[in-house]
Amino acid sequence: MIDFIEEARALFPYTQSMRRDFHIHPELGFHEVRTGGIVAKELEALGLEVTKGVGKTGVVGLLEGSRPGPTILLRFDMDALPIVEETGAKYASQNQGVMHACGHDGHTAMGLTVAKILQAHRAELSGTLKFCFQPSEEGFNGEQVGGNEMMIRDGVLEGPKVDRTLAMHLWNERPVGWIGVAKGPVMAGAEQFTIKVTGQGGHGAAPHLTIDPIVAAAQIITALQTIPSRNVAPLQSAVVSVTTVHSGTAFNVIPQEAELGGTIRTFDPAVRETVLERFEQLARGVGTALGCQVEIDIKRVTPAVINAEAVSERVQETARRLLPDSTVETAPYMTMGAEDMAFMQEKVPGCYFFIGSNNKEKHLDYGHHHPKFDFDEEALVRGAALMAAAAVDALQGK
Ligand SMILES: [Zn+2]
Ligand SMILES: [Zn+2]
Repeated sequence: MIDFIEEARALFPYTQSMRRDFHIHPELGFHEVRTGGIVAKELEALGLEVTKGVGKTGVVGLLEGSRPGPTILLRFDMDALPIVEETGAKYASQNQGVMHACGHDGHTAMGLTVAKILQAHRAELSGTLKFCFQPSEEGFNGEQVGGNEMMIRDGVLEGPKVDRTLAMHLWNERPVGWIGVAKGPVMAGAEQFTIKVTGQGGHGAAPHLTIDPIVAAAQIITALQTIPSRNVAPLQSAVVSVTTVHSGTAFNVIPQEAELGGTIRTFDPAVRETVLERFEQLARGVGTALGCQVEIDIKRVTPAVINAEAVSERVQETARRLLPDSTVETAPYMTMGAEDMAFMQEKVPGCYFFIGSNNKEKHLDYGHHHPKFDFDEEALVRGAALMAAAAVDALQGK
């Protein structure tokens, strides 16, 4: 039996140096040229069959076992965020204004480590592992879709056809030693909306001769708060957040237009339907009642991430066996955050799990996307070992 923890620990200097190199040289979504180049080179050096340019800057490596069996896709995201780093770490970003503030540098480094571990055990594997290094998880970055959908469009789920998927995220809301593997919904689906409220502009001193879009927009913002509080059942979850408000140019002018923007988050398809329906009725109804015209645009960013029961149960067993000293949390609804791995998991049964990565004593406990975000690199050993073990268990169908 392979001792994955031992092997991941032996490779830690490699994992750490890769992670730190990616951290020093972060790249935004669909610009992961250097990162993808290193990934391709490392996978080629291992003898994997490598395809570049899958989903623009994505890289895919195929590892064929010595016997036939299922195909498991392992997803690792590579992109950084437009944030000015404030960690003061010696491996801090040298690409001003860009930062690995979500841990994807760690994901990429763990992906390479998993490839190294499993390549060495190729003779014992039945089936195919598809190492999928994904660009642009954090957003569309000027494209029509994000990295996950872009890779699906480029055929990553075919040739060979993928039977199951595995993906993971370092999780700084929990300490090293905590593992989250849930069945069912784990991350929320996200919508992005804009509401354009058009009135009739005029003099600020003569409001009766105008139709004020600012007053209407303010009422719409207030009315939208009743969706989560009055329309969604208390034990279910939904978020409606207005995050941008734009209108007006001068203190004595009532403007013609006001524009609101924001996001909707839900897990359950039925709750999502209710929220979208009420959103439309309230925004349009309130705006119209106040004499304005209302245009609503709602764009779906990602569906919810739903973990397949059988695949996730197996990862739970793997985690308990491999990391007996860990807390393995199995409660669903991990976060209202979103993740585009949802698209692959909509098409292929998969499991998305979480690796606790904070360390309060070392002050490595800032949240994801914070300019001081950093994690305890000990989590990389656990993440790589668990992913490698879960992949082997998934191939063996046990
Ligand atoms: Zn993120
Ligand atoms: Zn992330």
